[in-house]
Amino acid sequence: MLPANSTIISGPCSAETREQVLETARGLSNIGIDFFRAGIWKPRTRPGEFEGIGNEGISWLCEARETYGLKIATEVAKTEHVELALKNNFDMIWIGARSTVNPFTVQEIAESLMGTNIKVMVKNPVNPDLKLWVGAIERIIKAGITDVSAIHRGFSVYEKTLYRNDPNWQIPIDLRQELPHIPLICDPSHIGGRAHLLLPLAQKAMDLHYDGLMIESHCDPKHAWTDAKQQITPLELKSLLNSLTIRNRAEIDEDVILRLRDQINQTDDQLIQLLRNRMRISEEIGVFKKDKNHVILQKNQWEEALKRNVINARKVGLSEEFVTQLFKLIHQDSIRIQSEILSKNEND
Ligand code: PEP
Ligand code: MN
Repeated sequence: MLPANSTIISGPCSAETREQVLETARGLSNIGIDFFRAGIWKPRTRPGEFEGIGNEGISWLCEARETYGLKIATEVAKTEHVELALKNNFDMIWIGARSTVNPFTVQEIAESLMGTNIKVMVKNPVNPDLKLWVGAIERIIKAGITDVSAIHRGFSVYEKTLYRNDPNWQIPIDLRQELPHIPLICDPSHIGGRAHLLLPLAQKAMDLHYDGLMIESHCDPKHAWTDAKQQITPLELKSLLNSLTIRNRAEIDEDVILRLRDQINQTDDQLIQLLRNRMRISEEIGVFKKDKNHVILQKNQWEEALKRNVINARKVGLSEEFVTQLFKLIHQDSIRIQSEILSKNEND
């Protein structure tokens, strides 16, 4: 069971046929979702793929709304889309990841929204750039829209990974810190790219206090024209939502936790002191390198040190990935400090 104020948005990746839209909407109408979604204009990465059914699909969504009492939502990417969505009284629109990335596009959408008050959701840009995401939301707010939400759909990476799009959870966490009043929705479908990943991703979003979920569903997922691997049937959606464990969202102020937090704070203070000491040693090494006219990066020594740290970390049960990232960051800052020392003019 979901928390009472969570928003659930579901529906097919694309509107394909009238029958497919109505059949999916019928299935979803029994679940009690908040919005029925379907892409009418599909921004595809490469030409030649199905690019959406176009304007014809509008009437199918309107019919789904009339028949099943669902609120409807679709993706817009330019003025013409916004105008059609407004003319047909869509309840909500969203800006897709490939549009958020482009301030010209977002500005065009924002301008065509002026004077209206439709609900707008802004997906994160395809690249892991918090500022572009915040900027797009700000453009929509500046246009006078008051009901704006953010959708976290993950970020493109070149390498093949478990996920279709890297979740990079820190970025939505940072977004929420910057825009605390903007509801945050998770789209596990485009993060996971495969149906079996939806539940763990949706669970994580709930545990991170998200305000809702957008999950793609289709009456016949196997034969979906777009994103077939990540769509589930309305019935599967129902069971997914029922499987979510919803935990208490109140701020914790019990003694046990307060004591543990105090220990964390003290440990963090020690970490800062340790890092400070480490950087002082780096500074000394920097002075030596400058004196003897040595380059900063001692390649073998850095690789050896990283290996040694990873082995030690593994012995005490720390994650290899975490420790590697941490020491890369520390090393980067050592380099920054030493570069400053090396570039300092004697007479400065
Ligand atoms: C979609 O929601 O179907 C879609 C195209 O998403 P995104 O913009 O996240 O790729
Ligand atoms: Mn999709």
